[in-house]
Amino acid sequence: MKELLEKILSETYDLRKEGKVASYIPELAKADSDKMGICIVNADGECFAGDYGERFTMQSVVKPVILLLALMDRGMDAVRSLVGVEATGKPFDAFNYSDQALKEDHINPMINTGAIALCTLIEGENYNEKFDRLLNLARKMADNPELSLDENVYLSEKATGNKNRALAYMLKAYGMIEDDVESVVDCYFKACSIKVDSVDLAKIAYVLSNKGVNTKTGERLFSEDYARFVNAVLTTSGMYDGSGEFAINVGIPAKSGVGGGIMGVVPGKMGIGIYSPALDKKGNSVAGVKAMEALSRKLDLSIF
Ligand code: GLN
Repeated sequence: MKELLEKILSETYDLRKEGKVASYIPELAKADSDKMGICIVNADGECFAGDYGERFTMQSVVKPVILLLALMDRGMDAVRSLVGVEATGKPFDAFNYSDQALKEDHINPMINTGAIALCTLIEGENYNEKFDRLLNLARKMADNPELSLDENVYLSEKATGNKNRALAYMLKAYGMIEDDVESVVDCYFKACSIKVDSVDLAKIAYVLSNKGVNTKTGERLFSEDYARFVNAVLTTSGMYDGSGEFAINVGIPAKSGVGGGIMGVVPGKMGIGIYSPALDKKGNSVAGVKAMEALSRKLDLSIF
């Protein structure tokens, strides 16, 4: 397996040159586009190759974890009354939702607006506590108590994240959030700034592939229904407006982030974590998507 992973990395590595590291969050521009790592976790254990220990921030890969915690804390009905499940076909930070889409709550949880709205559903006395509970769930899923905030990325996004503030004010204007906008987006910025490596992502994905159970400890972290819900949403919308193409070429429920990470959930089989920070125009890792595709083809992982 290690040889296969190494081969896939060497075959897809050059594609990074076709992409660009995200720079709209200034701190992300410091990422080294020459780094690339991959890890898979399955019943046999972990297998990795390349720069699998290189750390990066989760960015949008945290969205399924936010969705899970909102489901765990408030249940399906509360979540469904705030967010929808239809793919938007728009960029992750788009503003151009119709009045109807907003009023009828068709805001997908895998794009910024939906994830920001869901932060309000997380239990906690205040937004620091909500974030701590989210970090704790990410730690449990990754089986890594060391996961922590990348302070520099967090402060960089907080200083420049006015588009997300604007999206949050739009939600407030439509009555979808009640709390103080700055506190809500602060929690979202922190969530995006949780630092992981490819192994952490693969482990988080593995819990989702195992219907909510951490197979190492046997602990059930969330219900099978929630895992099914999240995996289905990942299939239709996890790669933003590249999700349809990804479903055809790769066929694995997955989530990408502008930090360069992609996590793939192969139901009942494995979790995959890939890192390569040069992104395509939609914000997905160029080499990462191709590596995921190669892995899916070689191991026949497509769910379709
Ligand atoms: N923190 C990023 C943002 O909100 C996350 C977006 C992403 O990874 N696509 O802009």
